[in-house]
Amino acid sequence: MTNDSQKPTTNDAGIPVPSDEFSLTVGPDGPILLQDHYLIEQMANFNRERIPERQPHAKGSGAFGRFEVTKDVSQYTKAAVFQPGAKTDMLARFSTVAGERGSPDTWRDPRGFALKFYTSQGNYDMVGNNTPVFFIRDPMKFQHFIRSQKRRADNNLRDHDMQWDFWSLSPESAHQVTYLMGDRGIPKTWRHMNGYSSHTYMWVNAKSHKFWVKYHFKTDQGIDFLTQAEADRLAGVDGDYHTRDLFEAIERGDHPSWTLKMQIMPFDEAVTYRFNPFDLTKVWPHSDYPLIEVGRMTLNRNPTDNHTEIEQAAFEVNSLVPGIGPSPDKMLLGRIFSYADAHRARLGVNYKQIPVNRPKVPVHSYSKDGTMRVENVSDPVYAPNSKGGPKADPVHGPQVEVWQASGEFVHSAYTKRKDDDDFGQAGALVRKVMDNAARDRLVSNVVGHLKDGVKEPVLARAIEYWRKIDQAVGDRIARGVKRERIAAE
Ligand code: NDP
Repeated sequence: MTNDSQKPTTNDAGIPVPSDEFSLTVGPDGPILLQDHYLIEQMANFNRERIPERQPHAKGSGAFGRFEVTKDVSQYTKAAVFQPGAKTDMLARFSTVAGERGSPDTWRDPRGFALKFYTSQGNYDMVGNNTPVFFIRDPMKFQHFIRSQKRRADNNLRDHDMQWDFWSLSPESAHQVTYLMGDRGIPKTWRHMNGYSSHTYMWVNAKSHKFWVKYHFKTDQGIDFLTQAEADRLAGVDGDYHTRDLFEAIERGDHPSWTLKMQIMPFDEAVTYRFNPFDLTKVWPHSDYPLIEVGRMTLNRNPTDNHTEIEQAAFEVNSLVPGIGPSPDKMLLGRIFSYADAHRARLGVNYKQIPVNRPKVPVHSYSKDGTMRVENVSDPVYAPNSKGGPKADPVHGPQVEVWQASGEFVHSAYTKRKDDDDFGQAGALVRKVMDNAARDRLVSNVVGHLKDGVKEPVLARAIEYWRKIDQAVGDRIARGVKRERIAAE
C-alpha cells in the first residue's frame, strides 16, 4: 500500500508493479517464472547501465550556470553570446585526461574545461583545458600521445617509462610537460583553476573584420594547488575529492565564478608574428597581447542526474556560432572531426537530441532517422525542394569564416619562424614565472616521476630534455634521480 504522497512504482511502460522486493515464484519456495517481466526488465536494464566512457577525459563532473557579458567587445565579434548585456545559460564539465571513470581526481594531469553555451544562435561549445598549451601540435600524434599516457598492452598498467619515452621523443611537449610537473599540474579544486581555450579561434565582427583570439577563464576563487604528497593522500582517502568539492560548494550556495578575458590579435599580424601563433604548444605573451575582459561565468546549479546531464553531455569544438570561427591551428582542425565522431560512437548518432545537448533554439536540419531518434522529422526530407522545407541563406545567414592558404601538399606542421623553438617558453615558465619554492617543487615532482620506473635510454633522454628547458633545473633533476637510485640500492 502507498500513502498519498508516495508514488507507486511502475515499470518502464508506466504500469504499476506488484512488488519492489519479491519476484514471482511458484509458491514461496518454488522457481521463478519467466513471465515476471518486471524482474527481467530490472535485470536486463541493469546490465546495460554503463555506456562507453570517454577516451580520454573519462573522469569528470560538472554543473550548470550562467554567462554574463560585462564589457563591450562587439567591435571584435558579432556572436550574440558576447554582445553587451547578454546572459546565456551554460553547462561546464571538468575532468582529468588519462584516468578511467573511477580514477582519483587528484592524479597529476591536465584538467578538461569544457563549456556549452545555449545561445540564441545555437549551441556554442568551448572545449578547453586548465592549461594554455598542449603536448603536441599535430593531430597525427594525438592517438599515440594518449595511448602513451594510459595503459600498457601486457600488464594493463600505466607506465612512466612509456610516458617519458613519448615526451622525450616529442620536444614540442616540453612547455606542457613543464606546466604539468609544476604546481598547476594538480589544482586544489576545480574551482581553483583557470580555463583556457588553448586553441586560437577567429572572431568576426558585424563589419566582417576578423581577429585571432584566445580565451582565458580566470578563476575568481584564486589559483591554488595540491602538493604531490597532499594529492597522493587524497587519492587514497577520497578519489572523488574534486567532484565532491564542486557539488558541495554549489549545494551550500558558494557559487564559483570565472572572469573571461581574451587575447586578441589583429588578423594580419598572424602572418608576421615572430612565432606561429596557431601552434598549440605556445602561449601569446601577455606583453604582446594583453587580456581584454568580456564577462563572467557562474556555476549555480548541480545536475540532478549525473548520467543524463554530465556523462551524456557532448561538447565539440566544431559547435561555433556566427561571429566565431576556427583558425589554422592543426590540432583544432583535427578535433573538429574527432569530437563529434566520438559522440556518435559513444552516444549514438542522435546525441544532440539528448536534453542536455539539445539547443534552446529551433532545429531545422535535414538529419533523419538513426538509432534512438526521438524527434519527428517532417517532409520534405531533402534539399533543394519546392515544398517549403528549410533553405540555407548564404547572403543573410551566417558567413563561413575563412582564411587563405596555398602551397604543395606536405607532411609538416608549420613553417619555422624566428622564435619557433620547442624549449623557449618552457624555460620562461621555469625561470621567469616560477619562484624558488615552485622550482623546488617542480624538481621534486619530476624526480619523483622519473624514479618510478623510467629506465635507460629513456631516463638519459628525459634528463637532456630538462637541461634544454633549463640547464640548472636539468642538472638538479639529474642529481635528484641519482640520489634516489643510490638510496634504493
Ligand atoms: P607573464 O609574466 O605576463 O605571464 C605569466 C603567467 O603565468 C601568469 O600571468 C599566470 O597566468 C601564469 N602562471 C603563474 N604561475 C604559474 C605557474 N606556476 N605555472 C604555470 N603558469 C603560471 O609572462 P608571459 O605572458 O610572457 O608568459 C611567460 C610564461 O608564462 C609562458 O611561457 C607560459 O609558460 C606562462 N603562461 C603564460 C600565459 C599566457 O597566456 N601568456 C598563461 C599562463 C601561463 P594566468 O594569469 O593565466 O594564471
